[in-house]
Amino acid sequence: MKTNKTNKTNKNKPSPRLVHLGEAVGERLEKIYPNAECALDYRGDPWRLFVMARLSAQCTDKRVNEVSPALFAEIPDAAAAAEIPVERLEELVRSCGLYREKAKNIKESAKIIVEKHGGAIPDTEEELLALPGVGRKIANLLLGDLHGRGGMVCDTHLMRICGRLGFYEEGLKDPTKCERIMNPIIPMEKRADFCHRIVFFGREYCTARGNDCTKCPLNDLCAAGKKIK
Ligand code: SF4
Repeated sequence: MKTNKTNKTNKNKPSPRLVHLGEAVGERLEKIYPNAECALDYRGDPWRLFVMARLSAQCTDKRVNEVSPALFAEIPDAAAAAEIPVERLEELVRSCGLYREKAKNIKESAKIIVEKHGGAIPDTEEELLALPGVGRKIANLLLGDLHGRGGMVCDTHLMRICGRLGFYEEGLKDPTKCERIMNPIIPMEKRADFCHRIVFFGREYCTARGNDCTKCPLNDLCAAGKKIK
């Protein structure tokens, strides 16, 4: 029994090379983007972050920021969202795509937040994951940004870039696996900032459409970049 436990622990422990890579990438990104802000303009309001995170699925952060003034004028809190007709909510979030599902999730979640949590966004992973439409990505974003204790937010950008950098094989599409690999590499208190900076880096240098590795400030650290050099 003791041997199995030890093996399991070692298996989850990242190699010193990956820990060093994580530190080096984190430090470099911090220099490039000293202000690690969430791309969603939630103005420090947990309710806004909750709603905007749900809307950002398969939608750009820019679009979510654009719809938010009109949206939060009508649903400034969970109590208002629990009462608003779902058809009106659909109209307000229509341009974010998947609007029926998103409106339904927001309204149902709002009811639970009011009835079970007194109108406040829950602060445990278990309670967050119990809300309609909330998966690990949203739960990690909320726990990380609001409480400094979330897991890595493994969206398509982070998965693409961390694969190219050499944290794992390129082309990984499984967010659960990505999180399992990356969480032990990036310390919990640094994960939220790391993920926000990766989003900005992914837009500016290492995009999904293509990238010029010769101009990339992470080139010397990157597995894919080194192949091109
Ligand atoms: S070197 Fe190229 S692949 Fe690597 S992070 Fe930079 S742009 Fe992306």
